[in-house]
Amino acid sequence: MAMGKLEKKFPEAYEICRQFELDEGAMRKIVQAMTNEIYMGLAKETHSTASIKCFQTCVQDFPTGNERGRYLALDLGGSNFRVLLANLISAKEIDVISKTYAISKAIMEGPGIKLFDFLAESIAQFCKEHKIENDNLPLGFTFSFPCKHIGIDQGILVTWTKGFKSEGVVNKNVVEMLREAISRRGDLKVDIVAILNDTTGTLMSCAFQKQNCKIGMILGTGTNACYVEKTSNVEMFPAYQTSTKPHMIINCEWGAFGENGELDFVRTSYDKAVDRESLYPTKQVFEKCISGKYMGELVRHILVELMDKGVLFKDATSQILREREKFDTRFLSEIESDKPGQVRNACKVMDELGVRGTSEEDLLCLRHICQTISTRSAKLAACGLVSLIKKTKVKDIAVGIDGSVYCFHPHYHRLLMENMKLLLKDSAKFKLNLSKDGSGRGAALTAAVYTRRPPSPPK
Ligand code: BGC
Ligand code: MG
Repeated sequence: MAMGKLEKKFPEAYEICRQFELDEGAMRKIVQAMTNEIYMGLAKETHSTASIKCFQTCVQDFPTGNERGRYLALDLGGSNFRVLLANLISAKEIDVISKTYAISKAIMEGPGIKLFDFLAESIAQFCKEHKIENDNLPLGFTFSFPCKHIGIDQGILVTWTKGFKSEGVVNKNVVEMLREAISRRGDLKVDIVAILNDTTGTLMSCAFQKQNCKIGMILGTGTNACYVEKTSNVEMFPAYQTSTKPHMIINCEWGAFGENGELDFVRTSYDKAVDRESLYPTKQVFEKCISGKYMGELVRHILVELMDKGVLFKDATSQILREREKFDTRFLSEIESDKPGQVRNACKVMDELGVRGTSEEDLLCLRHICQTISTRSAKLAACGLVSLIKKTKVKDIAVGIDGSVYCFHPHYHRLLMENMKLLLKDSAKFKLNLSKDGSGRGAALTAAVYTRRPPSPPK
């Protein structure tokens, strides 16, 4: 069916989708605003009011490609906790064994001590399974939340994001909490040498292979980026003028961009509804416009409004779409994976949801809505990356990227490329590299870089 015809059939839907369009002018305005917030985050005087905090990470050394040996890595940030054993064999080969432990909602939202006991128990289980519980292996802890770093192995949680709300952890040193939980058990020896953000892990893992990788980005449940800054620009770092190391990774925490109202001119009533129903109303505004935890919800809110108006899914047999979080972001990837103009996957998704009685036109309209939300997400992420590329002033730069949205969405990479090229013109060359399991491998690599003793030999 021709698009013009679909628009005639669903004028209300098209009207809503137009509110999500971002033209070049709007994107340039966003790049400018993000750049401002980045400068404010770095500077002592304005740090506290900046929406992009640009936290110091204390990571000032980078992989050389010569790192070797066995390291443990932890990855906490989404709905799972992962423990990994990485064996760095050569610059090309990292052998990884890992196990995933599901975190219940009760643990995500309960007392902090329970969360850390759960982490320690999972690590102990994993280590016993692989008979390394007494090896005191160096460990890198990927903790994907905003943290104040006061050392490479010291991070203080600033605020929870995404699905976490565990009590008594904000303002605490999370490495200390983990060490205490481990010593309460008394059956496990590990050496926590680094705590890092998942974006840092992604950058480190990409930099292991590409010297010119200066940016790491995550587009998954949440979103964020980090980049390599001159130490002398990191005013919040006490030794910023005297450090002998010229560079430091900065954890931007760009998910919070918009908390100063900078995105008010693009936010729609649907964004506001998603925000109101979230765990942290008014927080993480940029993240709520673009990341996997919220894209499905945005689509769902639009669908519900069109159902209320009686224009979409008129003969649908189920009202399940009225329930929160029933429309997964993974559905956008599936629906948009079809050949243009086709709705076989949309049909499958509706089947999975148990919604029958939708017409082909309904499904085409649903597809158009999904594309609208994905496109806006990619455009906003492109604005963020362009701000960072300009900030680094590197003319030929590699970006390491990980996260479920970037990995599984069929057009996300292309959309990012197109929009970044549009904004950067010829001012810089860039490559976007999938940094598969940046959080896991990156944590092991960071542990390797920051272990000041000879690595343990492979078993
Ligand atoms: C967190 C970041 C993290 C990002 C991606 C955000 O919600 O605040 O620290 O890097 O999600 O996981
Ligand atoms: Mg992750």
